[in-house]
Amino acid sequence: MPKRAERIATVPPYLFAEIDKKKREVIARGVDVISLGIGDPDLPTPQFVIDAMHRAIEKPAHHQYPDYDGSFAFRQAACDFYQRRFGHSFDPKTEALALIGSKEGLAHIIWAYIDAGDIALVPDPAYPVYKTHTLLAGGTPYMVPLTAENSFLPDLKAIPEDVARKAKLLFLNYPNNPTGAVATLEFYQEAVAFCRKYDILLVSDNAYSEMTYDGYVAPSIFDVDGAKEVAVEFWSLSKPFNMTGWRIAFVVGNADAIGALGIIKTNTDSGQFTAVQEAAIAALTDPAADSFIAEMNATYLRRRDLAVAGLRAIGLKAEPMKGSFYLWVPVPAGHTSASFATLLLEEAGVVVTPGGAYGPHGEGYVRIALCLKEERLQEALERIKQHVKV
Ligand SMILES: *Cc1c(COP(=O)(O)O)cnc(C)c1O
Repeated sequence: MPKRAERIATVPPYLFAEIDKKKREVIARGVDVISLGIGDPDLPTPQFVIDAMHRAIEKPAHHQYPDYDGSFAFRQAACDFYQRRFGHSFDPKTEALALIGSKEGLAHIIWAYIDAGDIALVPDPAYPVYKTHTLLAGGTPYMVPLTAENSFLPDLKAIPEDVARKAKLLFLNYPNNPTGAVATLEFYQEAVAFCRKYDILLVSDNAYSEMTYDGYVAPSIFDVDGAKEVAVEFWSLSKPFNMTGWRIAFVVGNADAIGALGIIKTNTDSGQFTAVQEAAIAALTDPAADSFIAEMNATYLRRRDLAVAGLRAIGLKAEPMKGSFYLWVPVPAGHTSASFATLLLEEAGVVVTPGGAYGPHGEGYVRIALCLKEERLQEALERIKQHVKV
C-alpha cells in the first residue's frame, strides 16, 4: 500500500473506537457490561415516522438520485419547523440544506471555510468532529476552554486578539455534549457580537434543543437579532426522534454559508435517500410529535434523577443537567478521567466515557449517557456502589 496522506496522522484515534475495544475485552471475559458510554437513544423511532417510511419507500421516484440540497418538501418542512418552534423564518431555497446527519454537515462546513493554516475556535471539551475535521483540512483548532467556573460557556474575551482576527469559524453546541450545560441568551448575544466584530462564521450545533428539563426551553442562535448575518444552525432528527440510524438532519441560516457548504456537498455526496427525507417530514410536521418528545423527555428526566441520586449516594458530585441526556461528573480525588473510567469498567462492568477524550479540559470528568432502561441504570449504580470505593 502507498503511504497514507499526512492528514490521517493529524487526528487522534476516534474516541468511541478505543472505548469499544476495551469494552469488548471485558465482555470477552464473560462480564455483562452495562454501557453509560455512547449517546445513542435506546428508545424507538416514533411509529408515525416508520409508517411514513413504509409509504415513502414504495414510490419509484424516490429510488433515483435525490436532490443535492434535499427535497424541497423536506427543506420547507425544516423551515416551517424552525418558524413554529423558534419563531424564525428561513427561505427553503437559499437558507436551508438537508444533511446526511449533522455530523456530515459539520464536517463539510469546515472544508468550505478552512484552508491550511486557518483557525477554527473549538470548545474544549467538545464533540470531536469540530476539531478533527479542522485538522484534516490542514487548519489549526484554537481550543476554547469550557470550565465549571464559566458554567461551561467559552470565555470569548480571553481569546487573544490576533487569534480572533485570524479565526474563520466558532463552534457552539448548547445544550452541550458532553457537559449537559445550556446557553443563556446573553451569551449568544455576546457570541454573535464577537463573530460580527471579527468576521467569523458562528456554527451553532443545536442537536439537543428539544431535550430539556425542569421547564427549561433551549434557545436558537437566531434568537439574537442579526444572527443570520454571521451564523448557521445545525438541527438533527437523531436525538429528538430517536433516529440516529436514519442519518437525517438539516442546517439553516446565512445563505452565503449554506451555499458554500452546498458546493462541498454537491461534489462529495448525492444527498440523502428521498424516502428518508419524506419520513423525516412526518417527524417535523405530525401533530403527535410534540407529545412524543414530551413523553421521551419525561423518561430521560426519571433516568436523570435516578442517576443523580444514585451517584450522590456513592459519593460522586453529580449535578442534574437542564439539557441533553448527559451527566458530566467530576471524578473522585486521586483519579484521572481515564483511570476512573477504567476502574468502573474493570470492577463494575460499567462503561462511562472519560472526559479527557473530549479535550484536555474534559480531564477530571466522566460523561454518563442516559440511553438505557431504568432497571439497567439502577443495576449499574448498584454495581458501582458495591465494587468501587470512591
Ligand atoms: C448526537 C450529536 C449530533 C447529531 O449527529 P447526527 O450526525 O445528526 O446523528 C450533533 N452534534 C452533537 C454535539 C451530538 O452529540
